[in-house]
Amino acid sequence: MRRVYNFSAGPAALPQAVLEKAQAEMLDWHDAGMSVMEMSHRGKEFMSIAAQAEADLREVLAIPDNYKVLFLQGGASSQFAMVPLNLLRGKSSADYYRTGSWSKKAIAEAKRYCDVNIVADTEVDGKFTSVPEKGSVTFNPDAAYVHYTPNETIEGVEFPYIPDTGDVPLVADMSSTILSRPMDVSKFGVIYAGAQKNIGPAGLTIVIVREDLLGDVKEGTPAMFDWAIHAKNDSMYNTPPTYGWYLAGLVFQWLKEKGGLSAMAEINQRKAEKLYAAIDASNFYANPVAPTCRSWMNVPFTLANAELDAAFLAEAKEHNLVTLKGHRSVGGMRASIYNAMPEAGVDALIAFMTDFEKRNA
Ligand SMILES: *Cc1c(COP(=O)(O)O)cnc(C)c1O
Repeated sequence: MRRVYNFSAGPAALPQAVLEKAQAEMLDWHDAGMSVMEMSHRGKEFMSIAAQAEADLREVLAIPDNYKVLFLQGGASSQFAMVPLNLLRGKSSADYYRTGSWSKKAIAEAKRYCDVNIVADTEVDGKFTSVPEKGSVTFNPDAAYVHYTPNETIEGVEFPYIPDTGDVPLVADMSSTILSRPMDVSKFGVIYAGAQKNIGPAGLTIVIVREDLLGDVKEGTPAMFDWAIHAKNDSMYNTPPTYGWYLAGLVFQWLKEKGGLSAMAEINQRKAEKLYAAIDASNFYANPVAPTCRSWMNVPFTLANAELDAAFLAEAKEHNLVTLKGHRSVGGMRASIYNAMPEAGVDALIAFMTDFEKRNA
């Protein structure tokens, strides 16, 4: 068996201990005589898996009791529509930060349902490399909600603060930063995240929604797009993504064993800082993002000579360092270093980068 260091932005690496546990339980989960994949979602075995996963997520993220946690399908991209459908609540406009590729997609979808008021746009010469200064943004007091993308996965730009939107509910697409550190859930109306970055396998989407925001969905909304229906049915209105839910539960247990999110934050910060330090110390590699808003999770970088990109990727692969190619819209490289990327993987990447530079600068 061979395991590489996988720097994929998503679907991304999972903790090896989690995969081994899933492997050990694959054919016969806890004497059920069947795989979790084969279980009825309404049977007592799967119900216990589902409840445990939710309890562990609530514990790890310290989710207050007045929030519902939904385990859905459809990806973060479905939430781009579900957010306005569920949160407009009779209002006609919403505030959006425009800070990168994913917020652009969220905005495009919201425009189908309401007036989108762009409260900040950080695009300069076609690039996104910063976020607005804390406190510099003026919100519309009549907005139904304020939406932002705390971590722009493609550009590697991350907010170093949570915007203060007063009484207007704050909505966050946390797909690529949820669980990377502790955070105060009570500051948000809604948090959503596709699982395939920092939670579990693709196919599961987590929505954390404050209860008072449920139940006034836009007329004509499909039942499957109504958070309140999912909440009322404990995410079992239809067949949920059972295996993804189970694997996410194993990841939550792994996080608890590791010391929870404050322990993860320490490791994640160290991983990111040493990689940025290596990039900044060299004239051969560069990262364009303003130092105060560099992502802990997604680290894009370019080589001084783009003609060396192909050789860099090929040689990295020989060193078991894979999926480092940057997003096609940004170019260069991107190292995604979510919770499951061990510090040794970042060390191996830095050692390879240093050696490659020596040979090619
Ligand atoms: C990956 C990603 C998405 C898209 O997620 P899907 O689950 O593929 O719909 C949306 N937002 C952010 C910030 C992402 O990183």
